[in-house]
Amino acid sequence: MDKQKTISSEISFSGIGLHTGEKSNLTLKPLKENSGIIFKRVDIDEPVYIEALLENVVSTNRGTAIGKKNVKIYTVEHLLSALYALEIDNLLIEIDNIEPPILDGSSKIFFNNILNGGLTEQLAEREYYKISEPIHYYDENSDIVLKILPSKEFSVTFESDFPFKDIGKQKFTLNSLSEYIKEISSARTFCSLDEISYLKKDNLAKGGSLDNAVIFLSEKNTKDDISKIEEYLGRNLIYDDSSNTVNNTELRYSDEPVRHKILDLIGDLSLLGKPIIGHIHSYKSGHKSNVEFGKLIKEMNSNFKFNKEEIKTIIPHREPFLLIDEIIGGIKGSSVIAKKNVVNSDYFFEGHFPNNPIMPGVLILESMAQASCFLSFNNVDNTDQKMMLLSVINSSKFIKKVIPGDELILRVKLIKIRLGTANMEGIAMVNNKIVAKANFMATIVDRNNE
Ligand code: ZN
Repeated sequence: MDKQKTISSEISFSGIGLHTGEKSNLTLKPLKENSGIIFKRVDIDEPVYIEALLENVVSTNRGTAIGKKNVKIYTVEHLLSALYALEIDNLLIEIDNIEPPILDGSSKIFFNNILNGGLTEQLAEREYYKISEPIHYYDENSDIVLKILPSKEFSVTFESDFPFKDIGKQKFTLNSLSEYIKEISSARTFCSLDEISYLKKDNLAKGGSLDNAVIFLSEKNTKDDISKIEEYLGRNLIYDDSSNTVNNTELRYSDEPVRHKILDLIGDLSLLGKPIIGHIHSYKSGHKSNVEFGKLIKEMNSNFKFNKEEIKTIIPHREPFLLIDEIIGGIKGSSVIAKKNVVNSDYFFEGHFPNNPIMPGVLILESMAQASCFLSFNNVDNTDQKMMLLSVINSSKFIKKVIPGDELILRVKLIKIRLGTANMEGIAMVNNKIVAKANFMATIVDRNNE
């Protein structure tokens, strides 16, 4: 068994943040076993501690930010990626600004300096997310796909497709964390020349410079576009017809963008708080989908699992109208994943429709509502005197037919709960494809009164 690790002695880093352009100082300090990775903002009157965990993610726009009590730390992914690759479990990161230094845009300086400072093995054993069943994630609004498959060790395959000159589709596999330093750590953050104007408009990337980011030209960039951006930046850019980057930035790897995407993905998934054993496959994912995927891994590997009899002790629904068979995952108070085996003997198929059985869309929605009832009731007292009624359907969409033989998976997230009314967002899937989705509200009421 592997032991947990921390660093042997304090290490500091200084430099400007990518988005804020402000100088920040980091001091890394050893922490005792089972502490995890914790950031501490030391520049405010009462220091705030923010654990590097998915539940503390507050933004995924152009980088991953974590926060607590309105105190935030932006762009944590490069440092976290290096820590994950170094297999550091416990660490205090003191920071005196809202963003760690971007350094050279990669994680190489973090990785090397921390390694050179020495690591200390601790007494406690490491705990892992060991993947035993494949987990798939699809972003409904894009063609992003993420999946993780059982494997003996941690590995990542990434496929990217950027419309940059001479870049296009790229694919890279990191076979083992032992190859991280050589294959991944030097890959720098990047953007397209066109993106610079958007970033400036959003007041982002203020610290972005040609020393810490690769700026790519696209096939369609005309001399006119480029001179507009030069005007905007107030400086001249060096390029010629053969360049695909500005100012003669030489790539560190011919496929540097896809490798940096792996660097980011590792940093984002490190927010699970435990290392993963499994093979990750990403198609075009970014910070938002990486974080959502991390949450799904956490839900699927939680001990939030209940059989039908246990479900019946929590929610009042009974056969033939009990439309969930099993709770297969979730996070108490936050999300639930339920399963329903759709079978020929389900009573509604008799009439919906004779010889052409299709599960009614409203019953898919009802099964989501029952899963949400379980999630809510699992968290409140006296549920034997209560029930939950669907009160509003804000939106719903039925995308594919559900028929006998299908295994219906219902994933419902609690958006917020106020005065006994919960706002929920659910998706229903068969064979990893979304068949329905809905945003609805349900209200907890007393059983006999209303
Ligand atoms: Zn990055």
